[in-house]
Amino acid sequence: MKITVLNDIKGLEARVSASPETVKGYVDAGHAVTVVKGAGAAANFADALYKDAGATIATTNTIAVKNADLVMSINGGSEKLVGAMKKGAGITGVLSPTDNPKYAAACAKAGVTAYALDYIPRISRAQSMDVLSSQSNLAGYRAVVEAGSIYGRAFPMMMTAAGTIAPAKTFIMGVGVAGLQAIATARRLGAVTTATDVRPATKEQVGSLGAKFIAVENEEFKEAETAGGYAKQMSAEYQALQAELTAKHIAKQDIVITTALIPGRAAPVLVTKAMVDSMKPGSVLVDLAVERGGNVEGAKAGEIVTTKNGVHIVGHLNWPSRMAGDSSSLFARNLKNLLPLMTGEDGSYAPDWDDEIIQGCALTKDGAVVHERLKGDA
Ligand code: NAD
Repeated sequence: MKITVLNDIKGLEARVSASPETVKGYVDAGHAVTVVKGAGAAANFADALYKDAGATIATTNTIAVKNADLVMSINGGSEKLVGAMKKGAGITGVLSPTDNPKYAAACAKAGVTAYALDYIPRISRAQSMDVLSSQSNLAGYRAVVEAGSIYGRAFPMMMTAAGTIAPAKTFIMGVGVAGLQAIATARRLGAVTTATDVRPATKEQVGSLGAKFIAVENEEFKEAETAGGYAKQMSAEYQALQAELTAKHIAKQDIVITTALIPGRAAPVLVTKAMVDSMKPGSVLVDLAVERGGNVEGAKAGEIVTTKNGVHIVGHLNWPSRMAGDSSSLFARNLKNLLPLMTGEDGSYAPDWDDEIIQGCALTKDGAVVHERLKGDA
């Protein structure tokens, strides 16, 4: 099959969807790979490395997609670019389908199959293909590291000749993939770490990382997980109890990292302005959910806000892109693990439409929008 790797670098996006390592794997397997000039530059993968791996370098995205059977990308590229693709080809990316239904419509019009990597079912077999996990993990790590660089004090306890420095108190809200890595990173740095989530299964995970779990553990909490392993929307009563408990706790924290999301809904507000104002000057809040409305009142997307009281609220966007080397390498391996489901026995592009992973992530097929979650939108 002919594979094209787009140059996705634009604005805050620094990642690339194939690494020299995965390109070599594709070439060794008999595929022809074209990489668009400069695609890996921001991840420190020079064009020469892709060339050494056996790829051809193309000058522009538009030229490179024309003959491709499969286009690999981070975010899917533009609707115009999809229009330049060959009918019957496929394109992969994190497509945020419900936020951007016009994109799927453009793919259907062009006769292109769009694979939304963010819709890959979260089943055991698909774990190695799950870009949401690989990227969230790095975001959780980076959130703690950035908080540490803004915080004017140390994380670990230090006993020095000049006296003892107390360890930083760190609180992680939302213990999914990003939150678990944030806990592990804060612990590695020596912070006294606590965490909360509405899913009971996370209590044990928090404990196994050496952190303390803090939550309102009532009857509603015991049922607060969907069959898919995600959080449920909690009742107003539960949220009020949760707010009361966390308010007291947050006032004593130096660093708070929030990662709480509910699929298909705005992020829950967990830290109110009053809670922010209760924190000591110099404390840092990092809101990883800012792209979906934010968990922290006063967080601004793409900005670091410092309150009158000297509390910093970090609202950076696209955290994985801040570590483009590792995030690109893992994204690339996720795609490499998905590729066999799109490859025929003779090595041609031949998606396995009977496979639930392909069914779960394909938005379009044969000129139509086919995904259940999009029908009617496009
Ligand atoms: P996510 O990004 O959707 O949400 C982050 C966390 O926020 C979740 O743990 C959620 O419970 C929590 N949250 C929501 N509302 C909250 C509130 N009001 N207060 C506190 N916390 C709140 O989650 P995710 O990282 O995508 O992971 C979700 C689940 O999916 C986890 O159980 C994870 O282990 C599982 N998962 C499975 C696979 C797989 O099997 N392929 C892959 C990745 C994740």
